[in-house]
Amino acid sequence: MSVDKANPVLHVKSLTKCYGRSRIPAVTDLDFTVDKGEIFGFLGPNGAGKTTTISIMATLMKPTRGSVSICGVDIVKNPLRARKLISLVPQEIALYQELTGRENLHYFGTMYGLKGAALERKIAMALEFFDLGGVADHPVAHCSGGIKRRFNIACGILHDPVLVFLDEPTVGMDIHARNALLDQIQNLSARGSTILYTTHYMEEAEKICSRVLIMDKGVHLASGPPSELIEQSESCRNLGDLFLNLTGKHLAN
Ligand code: ATP
Repeated sequence: MSVDKANPVLHVKSLTKCYGRSRIPAVTDLDFTVDKGEIFGFLGPNGAGKTTTISIMATLMKPTRGSVSICGVDIVKNPLRARKLISLVPQEIALYQELTGRENLHYFGTMYGLKGAALERKIAMALEFFDLGGVADHPVAHCSGGIKRRFNIACGILHDPVLVFLDEPTVGMDIHARNALLDQIQNLSARGSTILYTTHYMEEAEKICSRVLIMDKGVHLASGPPSELIEQSESCRNLGDLFLNLTGKHLAN
């Protein structure tokens, strides 16, 4: 998938969020764009302001100042239109455990307004894309953690959102399941989805992200393609080193 820089899918401008009466903003004057087809790594240590920013971008919370537009749609002025363009796939498994994977896909597809042959087609495509055909009729409760995570994402993208927020999708997975999921996320982007990707695993971000943004204490510290950021720094061998240099913090692996 080639990246279209002329028309960013996501445009975040001077975004600022203050909670309640707190004098210290959780996010301060954040500016960035995400282009179509990118896997954009949104990185920062605990408390950096990632969840706050994602909650605003996903229309779950209003900004104090600044703006966010998705495909030109202002998310504060037109939250309903914006919501149709996005999917927020949470870190926690948001599936009905007693239902099968196929039944979950059916349920979430219906929630997104899909029905009939179109819904069945989307479910068949999602099962094939995430290689879930063999477990589609097992109750989710009996599936492995890796399979649950794949169903979690499959349910979130059934309606072909333009922009997908993936919040630490590989957390707690073993290396094989993790690599398989990373391949599928790259395939999703190759198919045209734009992905804002949050992870604490820097080697993952280095491997799959076209660009990353590193923030801490609510402010932007650096952004760009991982290879360029590493090259520009004097002593960093990888993104983990750069992250440590910028934030002073190690992330758990
Ligand atoms: P993590 O990786 O731990 O999820 P994060 O980067 O997502 O961290 P946020 O959860 O956005 O960070 O938090 C940013 C700052 O805002 C923190 O100082 C946090 O304590 C504060 N904060 C978050 N939610 C609230 C809230 N509901 N009310 C007040 N302060 C909050």
